[in-house]
Amino acid sequence: MTARALLAVASECAPLVKTGGLADVVGALPRALAGQGWAVRTLIPGYRAVMAALTRPRTVLELPDLLGVKARVLAANSAGLDLLVLDAPDLFDRDGSLYLDPTGKDWPDNDLRFAALCKAAALIAGGALKSYRPELLHLHDWQAGLVPAYMAEIGVGVPAILTVHNMAFHGLAAHTRLKTLELPAGGFTVDGFEYYGHISALKAGMMGAQALTTVSPTYASELATPEFGMGLEGVIRARAHDLSGILNGIDTQTWDPATDPAIKPFSAPGGKAVNSRALRAEFGLDRQGGPLCIVVSRLSDQKGLDLLLEALPALIDAGGQLALLGSGDRRLENAWLNAAARHPGRVGVRIGYDETLSHRMFAGADAVLVPSRFEPCGLTQLYGLRYGALPVVARTGGLADTVIHANSAALAAGCATGITHRPGDVPALQDALRQLCALHADRPLFQRLQRNAMKHPVGWEASAPVYAALYARLTDATRETA
Ligand code: ADP
Repeated sequence: MTARALLAVASECAPLVKTGGLADVVGALPRALAGQGWAVRTLIPGYRAVMAALTRPRTVLELPDLLGVKARVLAANSAGLDLLVLDAPDLFDRDGSLYLDPTGKDWPDNDLRFAALCKAAALIAGGALKSYRPELLHLHDWQAGLVPAYMAEIGVGVPAILTVHNMAFHGLAAHTRLKTLELPAGGFTVDGFEYYGHISALKAGMMGAQALTTVSPTYASELATPEFGMGLEGVIRARAHDLSGILNGIDTQTWDPATDPAIKPFSAPGGKAVNSRALRAEFGLDRQGGPLCIVVSRLSDQKGLDLLLEALPALIDAGGQLALLGSGDRRLENAWLNAAARHPGRVGVRIGYDETLSHRMFAGADAVLVPSRFEPCGLTQLYGLRYGALPVVARTGGLADTVIHANSAALAAGCATGITHRPGDVPALQDALRQLCALHADRPLFQRLQRNAMKHPVGWEASAPVYAALYARLTDATRETA
């Protein structure tokens, strides 16, 4: 059977460029889908780091005037991925991060940068490459949201799926940018991409794609509510029949405690001790009897780490320790550095982004804390499960879908894998941390929980076939109406 052609469009793709879970998913899905009969090509921007990582790229399309910018599309294989790269130096060859300038502000032309990505995707879908025509497009987040609008404008009928990885980011642009972005003025309506007087790239994708998915079943149902819908709950409700929640997996080859080159490998909880010792030393933590907890996270309001600061004394008083790795909001960075200074030997903080260190942290930790206010799926609790670091998580979004709370029934049935608590609630978080310390004090019980966690399936084996079935449904429906 020949594999069917799917073009994924995204602004991040691990291991080449990553700011969060989106990159992990975009990087891991192609391998998972290969076994399901889909050949995925991934179109990403040619950021400086991407261009530097490509070996022997081939130019497959010249675009001398892509929304007023000189660009070309390169084809290359890298890290096992079949890539198409939009090389447009005026848009992507810059210092700073993917979305922010060196001072931490959004690039003022972010709308144009990702509109160009979308326009290129629409052209490719329409047959601009000589020997490649995708049957289906998989669009990720607002950065790929304008693809259906451009396809409609060019007259391309390839079906598209939009996956919302985080509803908090809308990709808004001033309506005065319609011309610059070469968007059809007729689309600037309530039923199109207009959002309270602005252009919303996310809404454009949500209205224009044939199917919508998000990254967990619970987040899919939360999105229809004002609390989580971020102003787009009406669109979600209108498209409820086309929306499904498909849980993210993780790349279980990169994240395998038995073979991970960044750690002292282990396949049972007892093997973690040597990694715990190294982790304590690395973060300047005392030798302690209580649980060694970690946080690996963006420091933003979403992640609830201000709530954890408030709850921290409960963990410390009960004998726990914490090592935190993260970066983002300056106020939170400083508040956490102050917490480390207040609790020497008990709290260690590293401000920054360090993938290899994060592996060592999961290997050494007894628990990973994820107190998010909302969490579309969350990946760090999945790494925690895989590495026997029990997840202590807020009961929201994908966190609620992946962790089995250690209540008395689950403990008696032997199926608990972690602790869940009410989101956005400091006393509930304090109780969860105290429960963690109490469970940890019973060594045999805690190791049983760790073994349960390590056995919990966290790869793509369940979700890849669900995506494949959805792809098949959409392409078959398009064929029937053609
Ligand atoms: P989000 O995408 O909202 O940031 P996720 O939990 O879905 O949250 O994914 C975050 C990803 O980024 C995970 O792979 C996590 O390990 C990684 N990560 C976040 N912050 C850091 C950091 N400071 N250093 C290393 N990895 C990090």
